[in-house]
Amino acid sequence: MLSSIFRALPTRVSQTLTATYFTVSAWRTVGFRGFHSNPETISLPNMQVHVLSALQDNYMYLIVDEATKEAAIVDPVEPDSVVDAVKKHGVKLTAILTTHHHWDHAGGNVNMAKKVAGLEVCGGDDRIGALTRKVTHGDELKIGQLNVTCLFTPCHTSGHICYFVESPGHDPAVFTGDTLFIAGCGRFFEGSPHEMYKALVETLAKLPDQTRVFCGHEYTVANLKFAQHVEPNNIDVKEKMSWAQNKRTKMEPTVPSTIGEEKRINPFMRVCESTVQQHAGQNEAVATMGFIRREKDNFRA
Ligand SMILES: [Zn+2]
Repeated sequence: MLSSIFRALPTRVSQTLTATYFTVSAWRTVGFRGFHSNPETISLPNMQVHVLSALQDNYMYLIVDEATKEAAIVDPVEPDSVVDAVKKHGVKLTAILTTHHHWDHAGGNVNMAKKVAGLEVCGGDDRIGALTRKVTHGDELKIGQLNVTCLFTPCHTSGHICYFVESPGHDPAVFTGDTLFIAGCGRFFEGSPHEMYKALVETLAKLPDQTRVFCGHEYTVANLKFAQHVEPNNIDVKEKMSWAQNKRTKMEPTVPSTIGEEKRINPFMRVCESTVQQHAGQNEAVATMGFIRREKDNFRA
């Protein structure tokens, strides 16, 4: 069937399609081990976050409670890599935290749940595979002694959840999927500029400034190019760009940032600033959000 389709196409198109077909099928059958970034561990006083790269530019995060060695995994699209990390670090995996239903985030859930018995599979959308606990805004759960609060942030998808992880007396972390990226945000597939405004400015920006931000993709350098286009005179954006480019030449992840830093560099979090509103030709934040998202959708650096 496929070969007859390819025969009917000009050779170059057919070669491209064949290459794409085999790349995608290789990911799905044997599991494509992500290698876009070297593994890295971020140690906060009582929690460790193991940054695991997956697919072309996705991140999975193994969150470990130091006191009990209990762990949760965010968006385990490559379950084999997760199992390896769980063994390597000697932790007990108890939960999957799913940010949203897209394949490159939730596509490993069913296999992950088969590989590790008794996992609690959390998420905010019925389209998420192997779901055992549907969560919504303000719901709380535990990873050992760490407290997790679910933040409902619909727009990229209508059931998107961010996970805020804290323990008293220490700096918290937030896992933002495809809602908030470093210096950017996700496309508005199932929501409006007003919903992204609520997610970024009313929900995530209200978290403590020192909150570490762990996002779903390594898009930082491309996002900063757009941020420079929106605010050419923003020194923080300029400095972050040289830092990020340096990290990427060494194949190091650019996560985490902090909420405080995002407020200084991320145009989508800065839609109340006059510089961003002027760039958009708007005098109000939600319209500015809509304008710069449409501009970014068509932006070529
Ligand atoms: Zn997505």
